[in-house]
Amino acid sequence: EPLKAMIDAHGAQTSRSPRPPLDILTLETVRAGLASDCIDVFFQPKVSVADRRLTGVEALVRWRDGDGRLVPPIAFLSVVEENGLIDELTDQVFRKSMATAAHWLREGLRIQVAVNFSVESLTRFQVHDLVVSAVAENGIDPENVILEVTESRIMENVTAPLEILTRLRLKGIGLAIDDFGTGASSMQQLKRIPFTELKIDRAFVDGAPADEEARAMLESSVDLAKRLGLKTVAEGVETQAEWDLVSALGVDTVQGYFVAKPMPADALLTWARENGAIASG
Ligand code: C2E
Ligand code: MG
Ligand code: MG
Ligand code: MG
Repeated sequence: EPLKAMIDAHGAQTSRSPRPPLDILTLETVRAGLASDCIDVFFQPKVSVADRRLTGVEALVRWRDGDGRLVPPIAFLSVVEENGLIDELTDQVFRKSMATAAHWLREGLRIQVAVNFSVESLTRFQVHDLVVSAVAENGIDPENVILEVTESRIMENVTAPLEILTRLRLKGIGLAIDDFGTGASSMQQLKRIPFTELKIDRAFVDGAPADEEARAMLESSVDLAKRLGLKTVAEGVETQAEWDLVSALGVDTVQGYFVAKPMPADALLTWARENGAIASG
């Protein structure tokens, strides 16, 4: 059911005609595709709640199959992670994201770009070097780069990725704890990593206008983030009611279908222009 729902939601943004459901990609398909340019990256706007200004985007990997269909990460990410291919995927996504950011800069768009990192890859020093070199080669300000790490995954072992994350943070790169609320963080462990941003999982946003418990989680997450000096992002805001609620709670930034769905790099540029994020003339 969740797989079908995600694929349906994804299909709605990429094609007008209904299409058959997608299966999980096989290892052979994934191996071949990583070597033959099947990796594409979409970008979803993040806007400031105070003034609806575009502050940044999240890079989200997509798989483009032989027929040009786009496959969402749920259909291939676990195959990639479980078969030692995550470094290759991370490398492609991060380099494409930085090259895109450089292109946008030339077009007058200066925004933050957040990229998801699987926790496994954050224990290897090649990832540190990948980030540092791709940021420098593309002339990106490290302050405009954010690494996102899922809370539940990082809490399994905080020590292993700590050194790389801390070194990147010292170079100015931002660190977001993703899907917050799903991972039962220990406060003591959370404090060890120099996070700059907390992204509240969309499960708590979805339910919040109607459900007391979801709202309690949402409120206490915002409160915790503020006390720890972290910026807050509400994920999955789909309705005016959800926007109004997160706004009333003092959330800094919103990302969700209510603002915009993930889109290709050129569409993002158009969207940014139409929404006043690029000064004209
Ligand atoms: P995430 O990092 O939490 O990304 C947000 C997900 O929520 C995205 O799904 C996005 O399309 C979806 N989303 C955003 N707004 C809404 C909304 O209003 N309603 C609903 N229903 N969904 C919304 P997507 O792109 O399918 O990605 C799923 C997950 O896959 C990501 O969750 C992230 O954990 C992982 N992922 C995506 N790209 C990468 C990548 O390049 N590397 C790694 N390691 N993981 C990635
Ligand atoms: Mg993310
Ligand atoms: Mg998330
Ligand atoms: Mg999520």
